[in-house]
Amino acid sequence: MDTHSQVINRLRTTFRSGKTLPEEFRREQLSNLLSLVKDNEQLIIDAVYKDLRKPKFEAVLSEIEMCRNELYCAIDNFSSWMKPEYVSKHLAVKLDDCFVRREPLGVVLIIGAWNYPFQLILIPLIGAIAAGNCVIVKPSEVSAATESLIAELIPKYLSQDCYTVVCGGAEETKALLENRFDHIFYTGSQAVARSILQAASIHLTPVTLELGGKCPCLIYGRVNIAAAARRLVWSKFFNTGQSCVAPDYVLCTRDVRDALLPFLRETLEEFYSKEPQTNLDLGRIVTDRHWTRLMDLLHKSRGKVVLGGESHQEEKYIAPTVLVDVEEDDVLMEEEIFGPILPILTVESLEEGIDFINRKEKPLALYVFSEESSVVNTVMEKTSSGGFCSNDGMVHMTLPTLPFGGVGASGWGSYHGRWTFETFSHRRACMLRGWALERLNVLRYPPYTDNNLSLLCWTASAKKSWPSCSVM
Ligand code: NAD
Repeated sequence: MDTHSQVINRLRTTFRSGKTLPEEFRREQLSNLLSLVKDNEQLIIDAVYKDLRKPKFEAVLSEIEMCRNELYCAIDNFSSWMKPEYVSKHLAVKLDDCFVRREPLGVVLIIGAWNYPFQLILIPLIGAIAAGNCVIVKPSEVSAATESLIAELIPKYLSQDCYTVVCGGAEETKALLENRFDHIFYTGSQAVARSILQAASIHLTPVTLELGGKCPCLIYGRVNIAAAARRLVWSKFFNTGQSCVAPDYVLCTRDVRDALLPFLRETLEEFYSKEPQTNLDLGRIVTDRHWTRLMDLLHKSRGKVVLGGESHQEEKYIAPTVLVDVEEDDVLMEEEIFGPILPILTVESLEEGIDFINRKEKPLALYVFSEESSVVNTVMEKTSSGGFCSNDGMVHMTLPTLPFGGVGASGWGSYHGRWTFETFSHRRACMLRGWALERLNVLRYPPYTDNNLSLLCWTASAKKSWPSCSVM
């Protein structure tokens, strides 16, 4: 038996013992997780600084506060999420108890990415614990400091019979995936997602995919250009552009572009000074490989760099960079940029912008900036994306009450808040029937008659208008 299957078997034995089921146990583990976050704030800040030179401000906001917020949300609410949900009934089962029961799935695997290396493990873990599962987490090896911090802290704070950390890269993950899990929650690139799916298909394991893609930002009509520039720059260059929901490119008319550029210049200077390389509010590209990938894109692009463009390989530094005259077939439009490079493409009309977006894969997030609500509504109605936010970037993902996830190639399933709990729960349809009214059952037993058939149809559909079904 290899070590992975030993670990999984140990967790499976725990799961079968029912240890993770009681509400009090789940509550205790969630409070321990909250202590993990509170006690180790500085270590988390230091780890993500080491991995990404992530500024403390960004680390607290995106790694620590988001986890804390999610923990408070789960601790306050999971007992009500666990409750059976009674459903409407038709006449034929009027006397029976009919409800949806949320049950844990079993032993689940959470695989994280490196760009928000702490929260991408913690937030799914919170929902998996709240739902009563045993969990293996596999942080990204690329963000090595955070990976080893997670591996050190989780066994200290959480029950080792129920939750464990596996470290390593592609080979380790592939070996892990040879085993059967009850659910795989994967955050990462579309390319790797294909191998995750292949491995999952062997055991028919259900999978949640939190992927990326190219998130468009359409700026159209009457716009507060100064505010638009600030919100765009913040959401694009936060975490040095290495956010799955960062605006990937801007679509706007020539007029808007010409009005926007001076404000982008002014904002970049205001945020990161005239010498962004020495500015402490700007992080770094995670690895040399990603730095080279981004610089290759920049060199091959036929667009014109109008802001930034400077770089320093040893420091893995790339200045916040803006390009214009970028065409649809440019290399920058082939794949998710995932770095501090912002191409601006022009369109003649709102319809052309919408058509452009609809020609591509459905994005993880779509942003529209306009003071005209008709523009915002038209874009929302005529497009599809995992999430949608008007007049800002990324902010929608901070709300634990909104499901976070993609659609189509940008991801399958969603999480955050209750949605994570639902992802890691099976919604079991339960009908507890009694022995009464056996005489009514005669209607469905042979010998079949037309009369019985019409009576039966009437009892099963007598409820003319069904109240809305469960929300999830
Ligand atoms: P990645 O796919 O390279 O790696 C993700 C995880 O998969 C890591 O833990 C890694 O060890 C593992 N892995 C790598 N190669 C593997 C293989 N061949 N087989 C099995 N496992 C393997 O992704 P990344 O570079 O860490 O993350 C960047 C991508 O993640 C971007 O596309 C970004 O948009 C996306 N992302 C999405 C979200 C979201 O919530 N939707 C959040 C963050 C990042």
